[in-house]
Amino acid sequence: MFSHNSFNKHRVRELKGRNITHRGPVVYWMSRDQRATDNWALTYSILKANELKVPLSVVFALSPSFPSANLRHYDFLIKGLAEVEQKLKSKGISFNLLQGEPAEQVWKFGERAEASLIISDFDPLFIKRKWKNLLNQQINIPHHEVDAHNVVPCWYVSQKLEFGAHTIRPKIKKLLSTFLTEFPDLSLQFKNEPNPHLTRWHEVMGWLNPSNDVKPVKNFIPGEKAAHEALNDFITNRLNGYSVRRNDPTLNGQSNLSPYLHFGQLSAQRVAFEVLKSSAPEADKQALLEELIVRRELSDNFCYYNPAYSNFSGFPDWAKETHRIHRFDVREYLYTLQEFELAHTHDPLWNAAQLELMHTGKMHGYMRMYWAKKILEWTTCPEEAMRFAIYLNDKYSLDGRDPNGYTGIAWSIGGVHDRAWPERPIFGKIRYMNFDGCKRKFDVGKYIKANLR
Ligand SMILES: Cc1cc2nc3c(=O)[nH]c(=O)nc-3n(C[C@H](O)[C@H](O)[C@H](O)COP(=O)(O)OP(=O)(O)OC[C@H]3O[C@@H](n4cnc5c(N)ncnc54)[C@H](O)[C@@H]3O)c2cc1C
Repeated sequence: MFSHNSFNKHRVRELKGRNITHRGPVVYWMSRDQRATDNWALTYSILKANELKVPLSVVFALSPSFPSANLRHYDFLIKGLAEVEQKLKSKGISFNLLQGEPAEQVWKFGERAEASLIISDFDPLFIKRKWKNLLNQQINIPHHEVDAHNVVPCWYVSQKLEFGAHTIRPKIKKLLSTFLTEFPDLSLQFKNEPNPHLTRWHEVMGWLNPSNDVKPVKNFIPGEKAAHEALNDFITNRLNGYSVRRNDPTLNGQSNLSPYLHFGQLSAQRVAFEVLKSSAPEADKQALLEELIVRRELSDNFCYYNPAYSNFSGFPDWAKETHRIHRFDVREYLYTLQEFELAHTHDPLWNAAQLELMHTGKMHGYMRMYWAKKILEWTTCPEEAMRFAIYLNDKYSLDGRDPNGYTGIAWSIGGVHDRAWPERPIFGKIRYMNFDGCKRKFDVGKYIKANLR
């Protein structure tokens, strides 16, 4: 039987306090990992509640002013949470939606409930770390954090900023068999009085009143159920051939799981299990695991250990130096943020990528590199390029506002996790991409046509 001793203690760390003094429920502050299955933070919360012989309350604190969040993001989030609430209810676990400033709301909830312990899920991004610090200043009960997003916990796999995939890969591989273990199916022993009422989700959207200039998209259905269907669809129909087809933006060759992974509606560990179990060729399985585990967990490492993950000062020294030398190179084209946003550049391929992002909520992975590098080429300086790329990515992409996005943009514009390349105007030693290179790789005309509206 899965017990407290079977839980890998390296997934957890104490953010505050040691002694449990209160006898109220364990409170799991769900934030990054918005799912009721395959969730190590929830597993740990159930184990702790059973050990302390108290009930468990899951809370989600909804901030009306989350940076860059709009109707597209809130719609995806809220529909996903409604499903989480139903699933938790069927397990006898209460779910509470808190509305307002998150740290304050969680603190007040804990006070009212006389909570014995707060458990949260790990997120390397600045805003979540700020919320947790604020909470820790208020509470006088212990607060534990569980990395439920990475297969190997971010702080455990490495204690420093990694240079690139080649330095983190061996560290992850060494620990993979220890952490890539099946999720136990646990039951809560001491249940709350069941709350007959579910959250009135339609009223929540009214309360949030998000900016509605970016509409929800039809091609991604939110929630855990849809996430598992998307995973099955990928494994059945597209994993075979993934290693080659994923690089062609005219083919539907990627998994399209990033929105679900970003919102935590799907566990990367579950994806890894299902991929490993499948009968797809080994090269395809390994290519997917490289992106899903090594590259994704490298992004968390970058954002966790580099506080300047979203700006110029986070670039490696060689990239800062090459940008210093080429800062004043003449740009043939210069665009405003609005021209970029409206896809009004001279380049139909770039415009098509921007339109794909706006209309589908996701841009093909190969095009993301081209898109960000051209923003560097057509803005006045790398600082402006970073600002524009992050603004557009976070605004339109369902998987935006994610360590992968900040890292991918810093890779494209600031050489993060990359090496120096032969020098050329504007880019200096940053890796360059151009239209002709794309033409050699895939049918550019077909991609443009598919995204023109
Ligand atoms: C400029 C730029 C911006 C990006 N912005 C984002 C973003 O906002 N959110 C985001 O999740 N990814 C981002 N990426 C990384 C990558 O392009 C996407 O993760 C991928 O295209 C998502 O589609 P998919 O799920 O179909 O990917 P698949 O190819 O099917 O990969 C499976 C999973 O592996 C992970 N992954 C794949 N490629 C990468 C990568 N290069 N780095 C880190 N993890 C990876 C993702 O979690 C992805 O869902 C960005 C890359 C660049 C160059």
